[in-house]
Amino acid sequence: MNEPIRDRLASVRRRFHRHPEPAWREFLTTATLAEEIRSIGVDELAIGPDAYDPADRMAVPDADLEPWIERTREHGADEELLDRMTGGNTGCVAVLDRGEGPAIGLRVDIDGLFIEESTAPDHDPVDEGFRSEIDGTMHACGHDVHMTWGLAVLEAIAESDFAGRLVVFFQPAEETGGGGHPMAESRFADDLDYLLAVHVGLDHPTGEVVAGIEKPLAMAHLDATIEGTSAHAGKAPNEGDNAMQAMGTAIVNAYGIARHADGMTRVNVGWAEAGSASNVVAERAEMEAEARGETTELMEYVKRRFETTVRAAATMHGCRGTVDVVSESPRADSDPELQALVTEVAEGVDGIDGVRPAADFGASEDATFLMERVQDEGGLATYLIVGTDHPTSHHTPTFDVDERSIRHGVDVLVGAIRDLERRHPVPHTGGHATVRSGATGDGSGQG
Ligand SMILES: [Zn+2]
Repeated sequence: MNEPIRDRLASVRRRFHRHPEPAWREFLTTATLAEEIRSIGVDELAIGPDAYDPADRMAVPDADLEPWIERTREHGADEELLDRMTGGNTGCVAVLDRGEGPAIGLRVDIDGLFIEESTAPDHDPVDEGFRSEIDGTMHACGHDVHMTWGLAVLEAIAESDFAGRLVVFFQPAEETGGGGHPMAESRFADDLDYLLAVHVGLDHPTGEVVAGIEKPLAMAHLDATIEGTSAHAGKAPNEGDNAMQAMGTAIVNAYGIARHADGMTRVNVGWAEAGSASNVVAERAEMEAEARGETTELMEYVKRRFETTVRAAATMHGCRGTVDVVSESPRADSDPELQALVTEVAEGVDGIDGVRPAADFGASEDATFLMERVQDEGGLATYLIVGTDHPTSHHTPTFDVDERSIRHGVDVLVGAIRDLERRHPVPHTGGHATVRSGATGDGSGQG
């Protein structure tokens, strides 16, 4: 029997920190989560394909999973659990069904990043001995903290007299935008009255809470390929269809996509590769790009124009261009009613001295799939931020958190869930057609 999670928050976080696994390779992470969730005791624990339809996954890597599986096996994971995650179906959903009351979802993400963690002696994870044990990967965004929150909240609610349904989504593959969609399509997202999604840090200091973000950018990850014909660059350049030249044309013109009157857009080609040697007309070029927009429609606009640009640039040079959408996420806004509630709760939490009802996000997040799903069905959602003093930016080798913020996050989330339970059913305003009745428990009564 483990010691309560809430009495060992830092050590739980450090355990995750030592084993950062990238998108769709979170095998040991999921095994660790399952172990902790089983010892908490929940009404349902769904792992991998039991939690979502693998066909709904996005940005599934074309990678050899075996080393990641083997590593997990070496850490003592059982074969039955590994079997269930075959093909990289990682992540899980835990459910507490505690009678009549609201259905509340909490979404946390679990993946690490391909970043080599710093070995500097003044980097706390080095100094305290919990630096990443996997070369080239790191929890450099705080998802180790997010998982700790998910577990501690689950434990606190399981031990309380909470009445209602709590669904905790431990979502894989956030960093590649691949895991939000399958979670949102799953049966666990059905009929949720409320959804809380949460992130640590994001340039907000320890003691600050942002009750809901505004203007997350809708985003699409795009892979473009241009296929031409190779030829001898000296003897017969006329026989080639130059994929390199087409790629250059495509990149320059991608940045020339017209701005949109309705709002902000972004486009970036972040990686490109073409050709084989200086005396060969290149027959193939590949690019990785992204399109973003202030609204989902604006993102779609940039995406469409980018596809046209690549195809047309390819045609111009006698090549064939294709664009694949690797993953995408919509824009979804936090609901003011829920922001107000989180604001009030956070103001009463020990150690929190600055609560902001809202702040601009400026980045993208695939939690928006779940938020949109809940909102479409008449529920309320918010994406909140729990501040932490981080020495350097997210996604850098010296990223770290102030571990005091782990306790803050647990208190804010548990407080918000208990408050939602007390106030349920909440009178929906501003666009929600009906008042949801949690008393029926089946959520079927809404329009
Ligand atoms: Zn993150």
